Amino acid sequence: MNFRNAAVVGLAVLALSAASSACAKPGAPGSQSASGAGSSPAPKAPPYTVRSGVKIDSPTLKRAQARGKLVVGAKADQPFLGFEDASTGARSGFDIEIARMLAADLGFPADKVEFKTVDSANRETAISKGDVDLYIGTYTINDKRKKLVSFAGPYYRAGQDLLVAWDNTSITGPQSLKGKKVCSISGSTALERISDKKYGATVVALGKYSDCVKQLTDGQVDAVTTDDAVLKGYAAQMPARLKVVGKPFSSEPYGVGLAKGDKALRDALDDALTAHQDNGDWKKAYDATLGLSGTPAQAPPAIVRY
Ligand code: GLU
Repeated sequence: MNFRNAAVVGLAVLALSAASSACAKPGAPGSQSASGAGSSPAPKAPPYTVRSGVKIDSPTLKRAQARGKLVVGAKADQPFLGFEDASTGARSGFDIEIARMLAADLGFPADKVEFKTVDSANRETAISKGDVDLYIGTYTINDKRKKLVSFAGPYYRAGQDLLVAWDNTSITGPQSLKGKKVCSISGSTALERISDKKYGATVVALGKYSDCVKQLTDGQVDAVTTDDAVLKGYAAQMPARLKVVGKPFSSEPYGVGLAKGDKALRDALDDALTAHQDNGDWKKAYDATLGLSGTPAQAPPAIVRY
């Protein structure tokens, strides 16, 4: 990224911070409504061309076609990634854009994509029971989960990090957590890793990241831990109160979860992801969402086909 682009992102973050501190009601971070203040317009997510007559030998896709809607499991409380505006129901964020671009390739326009909020602990069940066709919500691809579900991607690579109060100087990484209270989420890789006795942390496990962040701002815990991408969204919303330590200590490749063994659909999704990386949609979608939390786009990760 050159300096000019960095400045644009910086301005966008400032505009968002100003917007979020000026009004009590949380907006839809990453949405175009956040653009108001500066002279540089906020980057926009691209339009996605909806394919017609899509035929793939996939039981999941056939079920969605018969229903006339694609049901996508997502997060609702992760600013810039998977966020639902409580007052309008509008969804925004990078994961939401990935869902919309993939849905378009499967023949579903945005108004035929139904998002269902599914928290980390319930993802594998929601996918294998068929409650959702796809799951797109900061979902790390790993071997343990691959026993239960399949993954397309990865479409992004995050790393576990720590969110602390802005004036905290004692927490500098996972090695500094001895005797500290650290909040994370049931069913997440972050909770599993931080529960390792070697860190000596007192771990608080909750269901939603926003509940952990509330515990941190209320002073009930010393830190929240999960992926840097998730934490940066909260820090960008409350820059005067929170900061991310900024030394990631794991690799979290984000995948699109789908029913185990639906290889035709997985291949189609991998093809679609590759095409959207190549035609620039991926980068535009990133810049319009997660990029606004202050981190320039990385090169899109190589798709791993299996
Ligand atoms: N990416 C990690 C995971 O899939 C943490 C974020 C989350 O809970 O979604 O477990």
